[in-house]
Amino acid sequence: MTQNLENKPQKAIPYGRQHITAADIEAVVETLQSEFLTQGPKVAAFEHAFAEYVGATYAVAVSNGTAALHLCSLALGINEESRVITTPITFVASANCVRYCGGTVEFADIDPATALMDIAKVRQLLESKPKGYYSGIIPVDFAGNPVNMEELKALADTHGLWIIEDACHAPGGYFYDSHRQKQTCGNGQYADLAIFSFHPVKHIATGEGGMITTNDEQLYKKLLQLRTHGITRDPDQMEENHGGWYMEMQELGYNYRIPDMLCALGISQLQRADTGLARRKGIARIYDAAFKEIKGIEVLKTSTTALGTEGDTGHAYHLYVIRVQDRKGLYDFLRQHQIFAQVHYIPVHTMPYYRSLGHSKGDYPEAEQYYSECLSLPMYPSLTQEEQAFVIDKVKEFVGK
Ligand SMILES: *Cc1c(COP(=O)(O)O)cnc(C)c1O
Repeated sequence: MTQNLENKPQKAIPYGRQHITAADIEAVVETLQSEFLTQGPKVAAFEHAFAEYVGATYAVAVSNGTAALHLCSLALGINEESRVITTPITFVASANCVRYCGGTVEFADIDPATALMDIAKVRQLLESKPKGYYSGIIPVDFAGNPVNMEELKALADTHGLWIIEDACHAPGGYFYDSHRQKQTCGNGQYADLAIFSFHPVKHIATGEGGMITTNDEQLYKKLLQLRTHGITRDPDQMEENHGGWYMEMQELGYNYRIPDMLCALGISQLQRADTGLARRKGIARIYDAAFKEIKGIEVLKTSTTALGTEGDTGHAYHLYVIRVQDRKGLYDFLRQHQIFAQVHYIPVHTMPYYRSLGHSKGDYPEAEQYYSECLSLPMYPSLTQEEQAFVIDKVKEFVGK
């Protein structure tokens, strides 16, 4: 059916949506008919494929991205003494993982051009306190725009801090280091640990699911144990051994396992990750061109280190964010036309829970100004050209009023 741009589209256009193919369904059905519903061969296969995809040595698949963050926090030993710096413009889980372990969350304001945590502000924070005051940093590749991890790592090393890269938005994203080498998000070169989510709005969907990547063997082993109750069955690691049944719970862990059938879906999805990513970049180019000359619409900038030659970009485009003055007006107008744009994010420090811990509105003015203007437009591989044209039309119509 052809679509009349003057009319509402037939179906709602969300800001993000999963893409499930016949091959995906077949992969899940095959696993359902196998012996393993939970910890079977697909878990390790998914881990291997994912580690290879991002260029890391190890990967640990878990039940969701938040569990991944929690396990990382436990493995790095966050406790009541720990102070950890993250960005206010992220999903709350990036900060909450510190709280699960009793640590203190501090924020560094964003660079308004990219909405990424401003590394200069992280430096200011670190230099304002004696060494040892902070424990670690949790940067976020917000919207799919890669953090300059090389610069952040140099800073972290100077101050003796660990890094957990929250790369939920950026599987397949990359930046160019100072030697012009491609560095893929989550490849473990600059972060102790990196995490990903397979929630349906993310690039790779398993329903619920998450992954941790690392190049550190010690951390890898610790994560495996923490993922399953802190239990080991490896005779080399046990204090005693009473026979074939024997296992030891050596520390307090959790059940953060992901079932085999979801890993089968993940493997199938991962095979299409590059096609999906290319499609996202194509959608971004069309939005960029459409909004370039439009007064009243600002587009977030891609980190300069993510830009290659001839239009190459390491931006993974989980989100396509514009800034407009009357954001609520545009949000409501688009909804009237069945376009469900979304806001990413309400600054974490302004949430009642974080205010109850001493943070206040006004603490991070760039993040708050950004929040008042930001809107994420539909961005997902199965968005059709007609749908995108309709979205662009409606955005222009509203802003031109
Ligand atoms: C989605 C997301 C998470 C949490 O992932 P879940 O799988 O939903 O638990 C954490 N951080 C960021 C930046 C995210 O976008």
